[in-house]
Amino acid sequence: MSNMSMSSSGSTGPRGRGRIVGVPKRCWCGEEIVALNSKSDSNPCRRYYRCGVAAKLRLRNDEHTFKWVDEALLNEIDALKEKNVELEKEVTKLKTESLEIEKIVCEKVEMMIEKEIFEKVEDALSEAKGSTKKMMIVVVIGCMIMIGIIKLVG
Ligand SMILES: [Zn+2]
Repeated sequence: MSNMSMSSSGSTGPRGRGRIVGVPKRCWCGEEIVALNSKSDSNPCRRYYRCGVAAKLRLRNDEHTFKWVDEALLNEIDALKEKNVELEKEVTKLKTESLEIEKIVCEKVEMMIEKEIFEKVEDALSEAKGSTKKMMIVVVIGCMIMIGIIKLVG
């Protein structure tokens, strides 16, 4: 078995099946990934991830996982950054949505209060036909003014 010389390898990326983003956890063949030190002339002492089986059998130019550790970590950081941006967008969206809901609820409550006051005034007016209940009108109108002031201030 004649191994091909590794002298020209260097930044040649993985020839493996499908690109792995970030730190590889497992090779496509199911084998654990190991971290090793490169002994090649072009990348002395550079750390790399390798399929355990391929490392044990000293395979060359195979399709098993091979990835430089520094590149994998940069990948990982980039992926995290992207995730962060997405999360921020999501939070902004949720904030706008909850503000809109709050506005709708406020409007509904306001409408309900107005309707209630109107009904009370009508009640009071019809009851006030009995002369002893004129005080009610005063009280209700007083309340209305109070609520009006509160609403104006708020
Ligand atoms: Zn493998």
